[in-house]
Amino acid sequence: MKIAKLIVLASIGMMAASIYLSCTPQGARQHRPEASAEATAPVKKSTGVEHPRAAQPTTTTQAKQASASVPAGAATLMKAYPNFVTGYKDGKLLLADGTSMTYNDGKHKSYTELLDNADPDDMLSIPYDPGKWKPGYLDDPGRIRCDALLKKMYGGSASAVRSNLVTVDWFGQHVQFNKNNGAAQALRQVAAELAHYPELRPYLKSSGTFYWRAVRGAQRMSAHSYGIAFDIGVDKSDNWLWSNPGSSETRKGLTYHNKFPHQLVQIFEKHGFIWGGRWYHYDTMHFEYRPELLVGAK
Ligand SMILES: [Zn+2]
Repeated sequence: MKIAKLIVLASIGMMAASIYLSCTPQGARQHRPEASAEATAPVKKSTGVEHPRAAQPTTTTQAKQASASVPAGAATLMKAYPNFVTGYKDGKLLLADGTSMTYNDGKHKSYTELLDNADPDDMLSIPYDPGKWKPGYLDDPGRIRCDALLKKMYGGSASAVRSNLVTVDWFGQHVQFNKNNGAAQALRQVAAELAHYPELRPYLKSSGTFYWRAVRGAQRMSAHSYGIAFDIGVDKSDNWLWSNPGSSETRKGLTYHNKFPHQLVQIFEKHGFIWGGRWYHYDTMHFEYRPELLVGAK
């Protein structure tokens, strides 16, 4: 009797789970925060810790249904980079140089895989929220970058990027920034606006823009490689690794610190720059030209 009851309860549970899963809107999904949980959940294999909120690829059925229209993220990329991403067709972004690129590789990725092997769709998988000043666990909007797309946009080698750099006057310093997609022009607009706020001047000293390199310990490229990232105010900066030495990327409960005024951040954001201080893996000196993350946030 007891066993029969358990079976009934188990069946109801499974039905509820399948109803929940089939009704789960695109983008939402199960969250398995600990890799160790895999041992007791052999049904679905995961290769690592997943971001709690990052959107995952649609199912084949959903993809087929959506194929007739442009995915929201692809439309956002077209809006943010109108001179570079010119269209979308048959699952591919159409680029201004006549080539195309798969928009969504359809792979289910752990948080680390998102960082290391992002497609264009993944770049938008963690929403950038200008109203949220303290990031949640693994919230790193913009830290996920599709290198293939960024290389096409800004240059595929150090010398190729260098040929796209122009000089921007920055409060007595001359900094090099990529002219493509209006990035350098956007930085000039930031400077023009910041000039009205002398109280922010102590945070503005540049400590670097272009630097072709991979992220330490990984194959993925730093945003500085593309000449679209800018570090300022190092002496007033905080970084997750300085405050939490030796931490793994997926560690929970990292302590958060920031000394940068919100007003400074908001001026950068107004012109298409995201801020590293909004990342769980925070890097408060870091600003990066990523207008696609601010198109919907404005
Ligand atoms: Zn930086």
